[in-house]
Amino acid sequence: KNATAAQIREAFLRFFEERQHRRVKSSSLVPQNDPTLLFTNAGMNQFKDVFTGREQRDYKRATTSQKCVRAGGKHNDLENVGFTARHHTFFEMLGNFSFGDYFKQDAVAFAWEFVTSPQWLAIDESRLAATVFAGEGAIPWDAEAYGFWKAQGVPEERIYKLGAKDNFWAMGETGPCGPCSELHYYQGGDIPCAEEAAGRECQGVACDCDRWLEIWNLVFMQFERSQDGALTPLPRPSIDTGAGLERMAAVVQGKRSNYDTDLFQAIIRAIEGVSGKRYDAGSDDGVSMRVIADHARATTFLVGDGVLPSNEGRGYVLRRIMRRAIRHGKRLGLEKPFLARVCEAVIAEMGDAYPETRENQAFILEVAKNEEESFRRTLDKGLAILEDEMRRLEAAGEKVVPGKVAFLLSDTFGFPMDLTRVIAGERGFGVDEPGFDKHLAEQRARSEWKGSGEEAVGDLYKAIAQELGETRFVGYERTATRAEVK
Ligand code: ATP
Ligand code: MG
Ligand code: MG
Ligand code: MG
Repeated sequence: KNATAAQIREAFLRFFEERQHRRVKSSSLVPQNDPTLLFTNAGMNQFKDVFTGREQRDYKRATTSQKCVRAGGKHNDLENVGFTARHHTFFEMLGNFSFGDYFKQDAVAFAWEFVTSPQWLAIDESRLAATVFAGEGAIPWDAEAYGFWKAQGVPEERIYKLGAKDNFWAMGETGPCGPCSELHYYQGGDIPCAEEAAGRECQGVACDCDRWLEIWNLVFMQFERSQDGALTPLPRPSIDTGAGLERMAAVVQGKRSNYDTDLFQAIIRAIEGVSGKRYDAGSDDGVSMRVIADHARATTFLVGDGVLPSNEGRGYVLRRIMRRAIRHGKRLGLEKPFLARVCEAVIAEMGDAYPETRENQAFILEVAKNEEESFRRTLDKGLAILEDEMRRLEAAGEKVVPGKVAFLLSDTFGFPMDLTRVIAGERGFGVDEPGFDKHLAEQRARSEWKGSGEEAVGDLYKAIAQELGETRFVGYERTATRAEVK
């Protein structure tokens, strides 16, 4: 009942170990040998080739607690953070896997037992609902899964049929996929729903609101999707499940928000400590504190797994996350660097379960400190420019920040485009994104120009970058050097 998240994590892994599953370590957030994937986004990623039959293991059942980041690509929850009670960029996904061993019936029975049994999570059955695939295109509705939930005692009116958007799971554009079936927990009808606020009806389990909390997804891995979209049946039907630890903890601990679970308490206390403010969930400061708590976790784990802030690819996603956190710190009134201090609280909380964070502590804190110092050098000026611009627009009765301004902020002041969009959005402004893209493309074309005179500088630049190392050079000095190179 009052189980901590650490106890729930351990109970899950033990439950499945007792049922002949091999306990496998979380893989890195940086996918190994998978260029299609930005970051590890589900427990099944490390088993992708086992599902397709390309790789063999000496076990047919596995269980993991997997580090996941959803901040880009097919699964992107970045914009939800701070605003829903249930989405993070970094989270832990508990999972059990069958590689051509058991299938739907056992997967459903295991999940139901773990969630409802008084010996395990003892979650109130009357608040649970299941969903099954309603069928779409050539794939029929999942009458089997429906029957298995019914056999567990789930009343028919609590088994919902949903379409592919919710109940057909795919890791990315290609790879293993299949119909799925989910368990949802009713958090309460008094929780605000955006649909209702807009005068429409709440969509219940299918709604994007926090009333029905999706806690566990059971994927019935049956297909592999190829580049052209074609679905090929897998050699043997398999099971891949994912349950969010933070959400399970919220339900078990009787909290309506993941941020109110023990996992986030020490982190939020640390933010209270540096800001001298009390956490008030309903206020703007509350949003900022949640974003900082979330992003500090993502920063800690991504840097711990070797990602460094940079202007490209994975490093750029990390940089955007870190700069959002820093700017929220600014909004909270934090005038001095704080991110490393919050990352330290994350490591204190998570170090037992993920020793790699503790082992890399000095490095993680150093990277956080450097990125914050570097961004703070331009943050105030950039914010002032954006403020001036919005004041000017307001006076002119306009609501869209010009692409040129967004580009200046990005190129000279280190504001990623999405950060400008967020800040403008808070004041009810949009940003001319096509205009921004145009300026960016023009600048790229200019700097790629290989005319006389420029070549020497270009080569010199490359040579220096080579010597200093790509990440350090591009990562910390890009804003300045780019201007110099031009
Ligand atoms: P949602 O519909 O709430 O966005 P999802 O259907 O995208 O979740 P799945 O891909 O099915 O999620 O992932 C399996 C489980 O992982 C979910 O049932 C949920 O418990 C958890 N989960 C998914 N996304 C997040 C997130 N951004 N933060 C925390 N937990 C998550
Ligand atoms: Mg989602
Ligand atoms: Mg869902
Ligand atoms: Mg789901």
